[in-house]
Amino acid sequence: MSGQDHNATSSERLRERYRRYVHERGASNWMNYLEALRRARRLVTIDHVHCDGESLFRRRFRCDTRLCAPGKNPLTGEAWRASGEKSCCAELVVDLTPDEIAALRRHWPVIVEYLAEKNWWFRGRELDECLDLDADFEVSLKKRGKRCVFALRDPRWGIRCGIHAACLERGLPLREVKPVTCDTFPLLVIDLPGGEFFLGAYDNDVNALVDLDDDDVGNFPCLKGRGRGPRMYESMGGTIRSFFGDAFYERLCKAAEDYLAGPRPRKVEHPGVPA
Ligand code: SF4
Ligand code: SF4
Repeated sequence: MSGQDHNATSSERLRERYRRYVHERGASNWMNYLEALRRARRLVTIDHVHCDGESLFRRRFRCDTRLCAPGKNPLTGEAWRASGEKSCCAELVVDLTPDEIAALRRHWPVIVEYLAEKNWWFRGRELDECLDLDADFEVSLKKRGKRCVFALRDPRWGIRCGIHAACLERGLPLREVKPVTCDTFPLLVIDLPGGEFFLGAYDNDVNALVDLDDDDVGNFPCLKGRGRGPRMYESMGGTIRSFFGDAFYERLCKAAEDYLAGPRPRKVEHPGVPA
């Protein structure tokens, strides 16, 4: 090999090293976590998707906004929340991508007409008046009255998502319009290097990896303890289908049955420094 060839090879190797750095840096903690789940025997891999058996298959989940709504129940005069409970629609910041903003803008005339019937504040409002420009250069949903601007007060349920309700009642395509973060919570869909994904849900084991705006997973009533209602993958079936398709979801259901029939996993522990 000539000196020139050698230099070209080493500079290509260097570029590859830096490219890998860019791809892996943001996901290295998730790759270590995946290895920890694999060792704990709670990782189920379907095609290119690595699923957490505990948070997805064993955990139960039901969204019940009566447990987390800020304010008081007008019928009883009692606070909706039992204590310091948190609500994803009140405490969390929902950042939007340009694509999500464009979808809201496209359907805004129908959405705002619906919202204005529920709350006078929306009369004549533009979408941009419902968005915040954050210091970290994100665009997010505005907060109003200590909750998301679209979280409508509801005498029966405490709060109700105005975008979700507008989609259902005015025939808009829910999964094209509702912000993906909102549709996805409390699932975790993490993009990994090499076209792979992690699919799980918020639980205590994942607490240190996720950004819940300084809140703890256990502060959300629907994520406390082992949860109530259907299994997480059943409750969130529509969202999982949207991400990965119907065929994947059918295989996931079968994998869940097998997982739940198997032995309990071990404790999740840091796998150590990769070899
Ligand atoms: S997902 Fe949980 S925190 Fe969010 S609105 Fe439903 S019950 Fe409340
Ligand atoms: S858009 Fe709807 S689901 Fe999302 S934070 Fe606002 S009220 Fe909650």
